[in-house]
Amino acid sequence: LKEPFIQAGNIFNVLNENGFECYFVGGSVRDYLSNQPIGDIDIATNAKPEDMQRIFPKTVPVGIEHGTVLIIDQGNAFEVTTYRTEGEYKDFRRPNKVSFVDNITIDLSRRDFTMNAMAMDFEGNIVDPFNGQNDLDNKIIRTVRDPFDRFNEDPLRMLRGVRFVSQLNLQMNDKVKEAIQEQHHLLKNISVERISDELIKLFSRTYINKALCTMEESMIYLSLPIFSEYPKLFKRVKEINFTQHLNHAGMIFALFHLLQKNVSVNEWIQTYKLSNVIKRQVTHLVNCYECYRVEGFSKTMLYELGQLELENFVYLINLIENKSHKHEPLNHLYEDLPIHSRNELAVSGQDLIKWFPNERKGKWVGDYLKEIEHLVIKERLPNNYHAIESTVKQWKVPKEN
Ligand code: ATP
Ligand code: MG
Repeated sequence: LKEPFIQAGNIFNVLNENGFECYFVGGSVRDYLSNQPIGDIDIATNAKPEDMQRIFPKTVPVGIEHGTVLIIDQGNAFEVTTYRTEGEYKDFRRPNKVSFVDNITIDLSRRDFTMNAMAMDFEGNIVDPFNGQNDLDNKIIRTVRDPFDRFNEDPLRMLRGVRFVSQLNLQMNDKVKEAIQEQHHLLKNISVERISDELIKLFSRTYINKALCTMEESMIYLSLPIFSEYPKLFKRVKEINFTQHLNHAGMIFALFHLLQKNVSVNEWIQTYKLSNVIKRQVTHLVNCYECYRVEGFSKTMLYELGQLELENFVYLINLIENKSHKHEPLNHLYEDLPIHSRNELAVSGQDLIKWFPNERKGKWVGDYLKEIEHLVIKERLPNNYHAIESTVKQWKVPKEN
């Protein structure tokens, strides 16, 4: 076994020494067997939460009602969950009652897809009662047991399935697809936060075009917020040939430039209850695009955008305007800018206040800095203290009330 699994070595030892068994389970095993980068590692054990709390000095009961304990060991933290089955799903909510069991196979059988229902011991031996490895090798998505029942229990699994298409370049088997065609409407019972988490992942993975095809074939988009009201939006998105994966903000931005008139970016953000971080990122892209529409890839535009966003933005422009701009020359242009952020400006707000001793601090300071910044970027003013001072001292501070 390799990193990061190795780091769990001591936890495995301690559990074993105390007579318990344990396995790596879920996404980390799937990703390991399909040569993907490994995300968070989940461990399953027949030890009960109180056993774990007893035998490990440092634990946090992060989800104790579901059997999950966070074990902190030598600076590493791992979520360890007791083997369990899930009780009935009522009203499509996750079962709040779980029963602990003593057998890994029973635990694996509650999981959604065969590729997610494998366990691996510390020697790398795989427990695979549902032939997940075979499905993974054949790039097939299959549910553990009947897909109609499993999607009825928890409709979010349908969207998780599409997300794995996007992530691992898989294909749903026919029964899975049919089950989604018949039951996608059940997604309406799922909280928008859970749907949003999966959609964000779906849009930011490599095989997004394939996932979009799957969304169309399975008709699942008809039960997703916004897409359900504007099926045309989905059709347009499907026509785009995504050659790079976008971050979520980029995706939202692209979506709304394709169907601007019908839906607004804000509607999407509100409906999907997206975070303020994503909201800020989208707003930034929208502002930069406005600037681009007026000035093209001007110095001011590049300055506003920032180097980090450059490649992503050029890709977005090419997508929505069907252009083929290259980002490398723009990158050089960016590097040649006289300044790259306000910090690099030769003067500060303090200097302005000093130059106008009779003025009270106010909005004008920010406005002046912005103006100086623009003149410097456009090379109408050198980024030099005295040059800026003599220009600015001729300006008239507006009266504020
Ligand atoms: P990721 O790589 O994004 O973490 P993951 O498959 O590990 O993907 P998690 O949400 O971390 O997803 O879930 C861990 C495991 O729990 C899954 O691999 C699966 O075995 C099981 N699981 C997660 N969500 C469900 C669900 N809705 N229904 C059944 N089993 C699930
Ligand atoms: Mg995971």
